[in-house]
Amino acid sequence: MRIAVASGKGGTGKTTVAVALSLAASEPVLYADCDVEEPNGSIFLRPENERTEEVLVEIPEIDEAVCTSCAACARFCQFNALVSLGTPPLVFPELCHSCGGCRIVCPSGAISWKNVSIGEIAIGKSDRGRISVVQGKLNVGSSLAPPVIRQVKTHIPEDSLCVLDCPPGTACPVIESLNGADYVLLVTEPTPFGLHDLKLAVDTVRELSLPFSVVINRCDEGNDGVENYCAGERIHIIARIPHKRSMAEAYSRGGNLFDAIPEMRDLFRDIPRMIERGIAVE
Ligand code: SF4
Ligand code: SF4
Repeated sequence: MRIAVASGKGGTGKTTVAVALSLAASEPVLYADCDVEEPNGSIFLRPENERTEEVLVEIPEIDEAVCTSCAACARFCQFNALVSLGTPPLVFPELCHSCGGCRIVCPSGAISWKNVSIGEIAIGKSDRGRISVVQGKLNVGSSLAPPVIRQVKTHIPEDSLCVLDCPPGTACPVIESLNGADYVLLVTEPTPFGLHDLKLAVDTVRELSLPFSVVINRCDEGNDGVENYCAGERIHIIARIPHKRSMAEAYSRGGNLFDAIPEMRDLFRDIPRMIERGIAVE
């Protein structure tokens, strides 16, 4: 079963929840860090890295001896990754989405491909080998998170528990992370901003027809807007995490949720079974 942990915005405690699910699991689990622009699950899981692999994408390479400077490729590229000023086009690799279209439209056969690295995948083990950790990391300056996320997901085995720590927001990287998930936990906080972004996240998972429930972090602060919204929309709240000073202290030491609130471990251990039994379905 693939459980995706997502949130409409950053800083809501998404990684706290994803790490807690992995630590509490009563079976071997794979933690996949798909928040590739800012992966930080390994701070808490402290995996022993076993290997890394590069993430490569193809970008166009122009043969200037063959190019006629017709600019057909630059006109075609919707991402402005090619610029031709009556000259063979300049290629801006960080804008290229590797769609391949420019090569198809080039009438002169002047375009070939070359590989460039946009990120890295780190693969390791945590918790005495019980938790497999796969972490994607996008190179600074690259904006192509989806290919890195896709490569993270190639390491997810069939038929085993996997927790996907998704990027925040509702844009392409989140959709890529949610693709293939069996269930989504939406982490939010009881504030007007939290509610606003939760609504966007709910719209997204409903559009994708994914079953989901909500985790309210810092549930004893803020207002009751999130509770009322979930009640009105018949959305199940699967967990409420209180705010305690001991949590901030634990996090500052690289600790986890259960170091601060050990009694929450049983709930997180049971969440996969609750999902399987359909208890936590919207
Ligand atoms: S491969 Fe696609 S995105 Fe990249 S430069 Fe060519 S047309 Fe643009
Ligand atoms: S379409 Fe081909 S020939 Fe025309 S500018 Fe682009 S690379 Fe050169």
